[in-house]
Amino acid sequence: MTERSLTLMAVHAHPDDEATSTGGVLARYAAEGITTVLVTCTDGRCGDGPGGVKPGDPGHDPQAVVAMRQAELTASCAALKVTHLETLDYADSGMMGWAANDAPGAFWNTPVAEAADRLAELIRRYRPDVVVTYDENGFYGHPDHIQAHRITMAAVERTDIPAKVYWTTVPRSAFQEFGRVMKEIGVEFPEPDESSEMPELGLPDDEITTWVDIGAYGGQKFESLAAHASQAENIFFLQLGQERFTELMGVETFVRVRDTTGAATPEDDLFAGLR
Ligand SMILES: [Zn+2]
Repeated sequence: MTERSLTLMAVHAHPDDEATSTGGVLARYAAEGITTVLVTCTDGRCGDGPGGVKPGDPGHDPQAVVAMRQAELTASCAALKVTHLETLDYADSGMMGWAANDAPGAFWNTPVAEAADRLAELIRRYRPDVVVTYDENGFYGHPDHIQAHRITMAAVERTDIPAKVYWTTVPRSAFQEFGRVMKEIGVEFPEPDESSEMPELGLPDDEITTWVDIGAYGGQKFESLAAHASQAENIFFLQLGQERFTELMGVETFVRVRDTTGAATPEDDLFAGLR
């Protein structure tokens, strides 16, 4: 076998998702000499426009939003030193029930097999050892996140290339601390709605297989998040400031759903068993 560098591929739904749940691992593994590939499935046209104008409101020009968010994504990748950025450029779908879900070219509206084909092509090209995406609920129920999950799992099955596959998650123990800090800085969270069908977010701590220390890369992660300034109103983490953010987000957590290495869990490295 020829000597090739280990490769991490993260598959995300929107420009800015790479920062929140995987910014730390992308920065850390790049610093360790691992090739990092970010695949962003949608173009982010349902995001806020210049001046905070909301999708559907007068003056919200989806093409202008797409161009702005592409530039922000490029800047975010520079902050995280991502080796390769690949965009699938589907139209994003907005939240469950929005009309944008049914628009032609919408990611949610694209057959899984069709989008999985395109991702499988990227997996064959980059041959990632480790692939990271969302769980089957897209972590919090966003249709584009659910679709990213579906096409990733289909593409992994089709190619049989990655040795390890992970879903991003948050330990339940972290929510309490998180809520406390948010309250401290005056960010209001809606009370959980008992009638809502949203499943509980995150996982019990003992179901989390993988805890990766990214404390040394908190600055880069914050910088990557800050690159998406046009969406700042939706990115409440930015209100924490870099120091608090790094303190609170110093570990990224995952659940391992595919493994051919036999590495024991819990583990503290996505590449355990591969180096
Ligand atoms: Zn997203």
